[in-house]
Amino acid sequence: MKIKFDGASFGEDLILQALSCSPEPTSIYTGPDMTIQFANEGMLSLWGKNASVIGKALIVAIPELEDQPFLSILQEVWRTGKSYSVTEAPARLIKNGVPVTDYFDYEYKPLLDQNNKTWCILNTARNVSLRREHQHQIQEKEKKEQGLMEEMAATLEELTATNDELNSSLKLLAESREQVRTIIEQAPVGIAMLKGPEFIIDIANPTILKIWGHRLADVQGLPHETARPELQGQPMSQWLREAFEKGERKTNNELPILLRHNDGLREAIVNSIYQPIFSSDNKVTGILIILEEITDQVLERRKSEKDQQMLSMAIDAGELATFYYEPENNLFSGNALLKLWFGLSDEEQLDLSTAIASILEQDRERVTEAIADALSEESDGNYFIEYRIYHPQDPDGRLVQARGKVFYDTRGKAASLNGTLRDITEQKAEEQRKNDFISIVSHELKTPLTSINAYLQIMQRQAILTANVNQQDITMKSLRQVRNMKNLIQGFLNISRFDSGRMMIEKEDFDLKELFRELEDEFKSRIHTHQIDADHTHHLPLNADPNKIAQVIQNLVENAVKYSPIGTQIRFGYLPAANNGVEIFVSDQGMGIAEEERDQIFERFYRAGKNKVGTISGFGIGLYLCREIVELHNGHITVETNSTGGSTFKVRLPAS
Ligand code: ADP
Repeated sequence: MKIKFDGASFGEDLILQALSCSPEPTSIYTGPDMTIQFANEGMLSLWGKNASVIGKALIVAIPELEDQPFLSILQEVWRTGKSYSVTEAPARLIKNGVPVTDYFDYEYKPLLDQNNKTWCILNTARNVSLRREHQHQIQEKEKKEQGLMEEMAATLEELTATNDELNSSLKLLAESREQVRTIIEQAPVGIAMLKGPEFIIDIANPTILKIWGHRLADVQGLPHETARPELQGQPMSQWLREAFEKGERKTNNELPILLRHNDGLREAIVNSIYQPIFSSDNKVTGILIILEEITDQVLERRKSEKDQQMLSMAIDAGELATFYYEPENNLFSGNALLKLWFGLSDEEQLDLSTAIASILEQDRERVTEAIADALSEESDGNYFIEYRIYHPQDPDGRLVQARGKVFYDTRGKAASLNGTLRDITEQKAEEQRKNDFISIVSHELKTPLTSINAYLQIMQRQAILTANVNQQDITMKSLRQVRNMKNLIQGFLNISRFDSGRMMIEKEDFDLKELFRELEDEFKSRIHTHQIDADHTHHLPLNADPNKIAQVIQNLVENAVKYSPIGTQIRFGYLPAANNGVEIFVSDQGMGIAEEERDQIFERFYRAGKNKVGTISGFGIGLYLCREIVELHNGHITVETNSTGGSTFKVRLPAS
């Protein structure tokens, strides 16, 4: 057989020899069954076979190739005359009886004759398993490295994030530390931190320093006991040690203590807590002190407890019944005396209606109304009423006087009506007897006094006729005294009338100008000690009891005379007031009335500035009567101090 290459020709043996020496595994097949015509050492060792395979069909020589694609590829190359090459293709071979899968780069190259027909196939192959493995390993390594790089990048990223977090945590920590410091600084309770078994004062806020009576600079960094020598002989240092040693909190309530104060000591009452501070390994490292001074509150409470006690004693001694009524739930109760009067058992609270049932029937409506009035929104919250209640031992019942005050909740709603009840049956009976007596005596005195007055007037006239100046003077003074006495008796009579509800007012239409002119004449005729000036220039109609109104003005002018120096001016007059009402005024240049007495002077038997008026006679009933008369007219009487220091009494009367 001859092989031709570009015209050069070699002997077949020579070529085969050359191929045998080639380091590249090479074989040659012919025929459709791929008879192995030639296989060099390299190829035989690649197959794991010996030279006995030469001359055999491929599948016979290497049966393990049967279910592999090589034969069909070779046949395709044989048929088509087209080369086939592939890299890293796997092939299963049996070498020395052991199945092995290796990877090959191989080529099937057809050699063609003049007719372009394949006459043999040259197979070159290279075992690349090792290279593949290396590549694989390199790839694995690269992959691993890539993974590591990625991991590193991720870790780096994480690290950066952690670092950021750490930074912001640090910032937060600094902020919260600052916050804690501010909280401690501004805390309304005293806070101090003592470090170690020596109790070195580390922190002490302004509140605790104030309670301790020390300055920060004098105590910070010092052991607690050294910094506060005033505690010697007091148990606090011992308690601190115990809290530290046992790791237990010590709490003191209402503890009396001596504290430093202006280089001396003061007594105080405090609430305190000694709280051990623990380290992470559960060891006590110091004590946190929380201190609150409650001296004022405790003293205040004790005082109010004392006041409460005294009040109860006073209530018991004064035989006062106390009551409270809560409109919200309609409950009514009070002290033991009240329960006795209203027939309640000791623990009972009852419905207001049950309590009302203990009141005499004819008084019930009045009481219900008075309670409703006191609780109403327009009320000033005061409650005052007298009424009768049934009494097991007294068929007429007992007369009680109730005084109360409404207490409001934070929303301004009436929460309770609290007050006292006093049994005034005896007192009223006594007053009645007194009034009856005064009334009788006054009546009895009036008749002889009228006679004396008449006799004196006759005497006065005679004295004028005989021009007996001495007698004239005496009779004039006597007549004045008689008038005073008459006024006084009239006053007493009025009071007793008023008390028994017999004071009547008889209203009529009249002109104030007329009344004031008459009064001016009267005053001028008998008052020569003061300068009387009346203001009645214009007409002013009024519907009222002219006699009673005259009586009020007379009382006020007589008081002005009594309580202002001789020679001073007394002015009286009237003015139209709002809503067709009128205002009557009497003003003087006298001693005036202290502000705190301006209401009291209208009370019965009240005499202002007792030492000042000591030498001026009077019973303290004039203004009381004035007020009663004015109030019967639905009017109002007040007193003011005028710029000169004297008083101006003002009576406001509404249009009828
Ligand atoms: P009395 O004059 O009989 O004492 P009143 O009831 O008339 O009683 O007056 C009560 C008190 O008011 C008097 O005691 C007096 O202290 C005071 N008072 C009344 N009017 C005047 C006044 N014009 N100036 C100063 N004080 C007066």
